[in-house]
Amino acid sequence: MIRFEKVSKAYPGQARPALNSLSIDIQKGEFVFLVGQSGSGKSTALKLMLREQRPTTGRVYVAGKEINRLAGWKVPRLRRQVGTIFQDFRLLANKTVAENVAFAMQVTGHSNREIRQRVPETLELVGLDGKGDRMPDELSGGEQQRVAVARAFINRPMILIADEPTGNLDPGNTVGIMRLLDRINRSGTTIVMATHDVQMVDQMRKRVIELEHGHLVRDQVQGGYGAQF
Ligand code: ADP
Ligand code: MG
Repeated sequence: MIRFEKVSKAYPGQARPALNSLSIDIQKGEFVFLVGQSGSGKSTALKLMLREQRPTTGRVYVAGKEINRLAGWKVPRLRRQVGTIFQDFRLLANKTVAENVAFAMQVTGHSNREIRQRVPETLELVGLDGKGDRMPDELSGGEQQRVAVARAFINRPMILIADEPTGNLDPGNTVGIMRLLDRINRSGTTIVMATHDVQMVDQMRKRVIELEHGHLVRDQVQGGYGAQF
């Protein structure tokens, strides 16, 4: 589903590359944590999957396509197949919860009838039943991140990319969001999540890819212990 072949990324003016000959292979339906200290290259790797950045050398494949060879007009279609969530939620502050989620369906050309049906279903799925008319700033951080998850998931993307989605959340809300992501993963969506919450990663039995200064230093399936969410 996602494949990096000897991918390096050097930003202009930086002494060392953000990613250094990174090769990884992520299968359909996997849940993968990308870990490593701040500055190790996690966000850069995720941006390359979305073609928000391009590799300096090497190849990035998403869903069988080498995405850096995609024509520019095909990039929006790629991004529609990949949901994203971020540490800072990135909700539209002047739209209600339901409007924020509906917006993702409007830009992909769904009918109002489909939107009216799917938005409440998805809000229920993420545990925000009845909160569709609230404004984002009337919700807790954990609830705002649930809105972002609903928005990312409503078009049923093949892949969900999450960059430190629990970075602003307390432990209780972190567990809630992880349960939700696990449920989404079980429905078949491939998930790649960057985090530096080592304790949380240890509690989930998932594959862990660790970066250090842009190098791959660990790629393992955790097994045998820990709580299964
Ligand atoms: P992480 O997400 O693990 O903290 P990043 O991928 O954000 O790591 O950053 C990796 C390295 O690349 C860091 O040294 C960072 O300063 C640098 N970097 C990231 N984005 C840019 C950019 N847009 N321009 C220049 N340097 C960048
Ligand atoms: Mg980052």
